[in-house]
Amino acid sequence: MLEKVRTSADAQARSWTSAFGHSLKGGDAAAVSQMFQADSHWRNLCGISWQIATFSGSRKLSEELCRRAREVGASGFEVDSELLPPRRAVVAGVEVIEAIFRFDTVNGPGVGVVRLVPSYGSDETKAWTISTLLDMEKISAARSSHRASVSHHRDFAETNWLDQRRVEVVFENREPDVLVVGGGHAGISAAVELKRMGFDTLVIDRQQRVGDNWRLRYNGLKLHNKTPVNHLRYMPFPPTWPDYIPKDKIANWLETYVESMEVNFWTRTSFEGAEYNEATQSWRAKVRRDDGSVRTLAPKHIVMATSVSGTPNIPSIATLENFAGKVLHSSKFAGGAEWRGKSVVVMGTGTSAHDICQELQANGAEVTMVQRSPTLVVNVDPSAQLYDKTYLGEGPPVDVRDLLNSSVPLEVLKASHKLITKEVRALDAVLLSRLEQAGFRLEFGEDGTGWPLKFRTRGGGYYFNVGCSELIADRKIALIQSTEIETFVASGLQLRDGSTRKADLVVLATGYKGQEHIVSSLFGAAVAARVGPIWGFDKESQELRNMWTRTGQPGLWFTGGAFSQCRIYSRFIALQIDAIETGRLEKASTS
Ligand SMILES: Cc1cc2nc3c(=O)[nH]c(=O)nc-3n(C[C@H](O)[C@H](O)[C@H](O)COP(=O)(O)OP(=O)(O)OC[C@H]3O[C@@H](n4cnc5c(N)ncnc54)[C@H](O)[C@@H]3O)c2cc1C
Repeated sequence: MLEKVRTSADAQARSWTSAFGHSLKGGDAAAVSQMFQADSHWRNLCGISWQIATFSGSRKLSEELCRRAREVGASGFEVDSELLPPRRAVVAGVEVIEAIFRFDTVNGPGVGVVRLVPSYGSDETKAWTISTLLDMEKISAARSSHRASVSHHRDFAETNWLDQRRVEVVFENREPDVLVVGGGHAGISAAVELKRMGFDTLVIDRQQRVGDNWRLRYNGLKLHNKTPVNHLRYMPFPPTWPDYIPKDKIANWLETYVESMEVNFWTRTSFEGAEYNEATQSWRAKVRRDDGSVRTLAPKHIVMATSVSGTPNIPSIATLENFAGKVLHSSKFAGGAEWRGKSVVVMGTGTSAHDICQELQANGAEVTMVQRSPTLVVNVDPSAQLYDKTYLGEGPPVDVRDLLNSSVPLEVLKASHKLITKEVRALDAVLLSRLEQAGFRLEFGEDGTGWPLKFRTRGGGYYFNVGCSELIADRKIALIQSTEIETFVASGLQLRDGSTRKADLVVLATGYKGQEHIVSSLFGAAVAARVGPIWGFDKESQELRNMWTRTGQPGLWFTGGAFSQCRIYSRFIALQIDAIETGRLEKASTS
């Protein structure tokens, strides 16, 4: 029976894919349109044309598909059942046939995913979603320049691998093709893909040691997503690892990864800004080493990987100037131990606020959390993990899961996350109701879509509960609303009901700003204007703004976000830079 179902899914996928390839070749948009449901979507990740964009509606996507397919000579569409046998699946509550297909273009081989809506009792099967991307594996495998010679014949007086690595990393009398600013997982992932495409790449970071971006965070930190979601490309985590990776373990892994993947990395080096030289089509980038020396580098491209939430957001808080105690942004909070027996007010209800409150409470401080706006709270396990089902449990390798994950267009993702959020609210109902009884104001993301899209729109605004919510519900951590504050006074807070709250410390857990806030200070106002907003969805393309794609400024790129996002999308920076450097793509985006 199972075999029959499989065969039928396989047959339907093959028949649709072959007919699709045929119609596309004919360039008949009306015929292509007939093969899609009215509310269908095409997500293109540099697959058919260099754009990262989603097109919705059968008419629009067919016109775009036909035009772009003609430009890149897209042909040879056929199902690849070795990567994944076509199968039945349920996506956003809809039963579909899911299949991976391959095709060719002048830019290289492509791969994609189609989801068909089966029509029982009829031969007609229409597509609901389709994705297309260039196949980095095949493209880079076809090149050999990134591979060291495997010959054993050598002159024993010559430099060995270690000598060569030492020379490579110092960039003496040599300029990098690409400078990556920021060496967290985002910068490192981009560098690895760039190297794989043959680009001489340098990563710089002001931290003392690779991994300090995690090592220096608070004591009890573990990653929030399960280990299989967070793999780095080419070197997956060992299967013996725990479900949630502790901060020092991920820090050490990043260090090992940099070493093993031979990433050229300068620690203790700050990026102080860059100017673009139109004549040479390269940057003059000023970087300062911690011995005070300054070097001006001349890369053709700069990839900014300074985090989507890297700049502390310090809002002006009315009357805070009256407070005589210490005021710290959460990024400067060093630990709870020194506040034992003291009173602390924490402004904010995001992850940092909760974690700091919990650490202070555990260390014997009297803690008051101040809520400024409704916040999404989700139990870290299992609820928060339900959005990552693609990566959990038995199934295909992570590359195939990435292909499936990245094939889901925004509108379908929203529909899927709305259903999951409903399930999550039911699972977390007891906790959520106890929180509300304690006066905590809750929300569940735009249109009830949950935490992942909040991350992609705001970069935060939620809390994965690892125990602090219970402390609030049990009144072990006091909670007040910011509207209850009459004024800050020298000794703490004066509330509207006439009571006072003593405070020795006020922590501003008021979040972080994204990359667009540093563009003008590092590159100047004209570049900032050319680039525009970064992160958050663009209404027309339905994609994250200026991420992993050409920007309005030639040679300036942005990466960041979750491990899975950097693992999936970093390759597109490398592929596009390669296309630019080989004259197949304009340097800047014009849209
Ligand atoms: C508690 C917690 C748990 C999380 N769990 C997960 C998880 O499970 N899965 C997941 O995908 N994500 C998780 N995240 C979110 C996210 O992956 C991390 O915040 C991650 O650190 C982001 O990586 P990044 O490389 O973009 O930025 P960062 O790690 O912040 O790295 C940016 C680097 O840029 C450097 N830098 C900035 N400016 C300059 C400059 N001018 N010159 C030189 N260097 C500079 C900084 O020193 C820093 O090292 C978690 C976050 C937190 C806080």
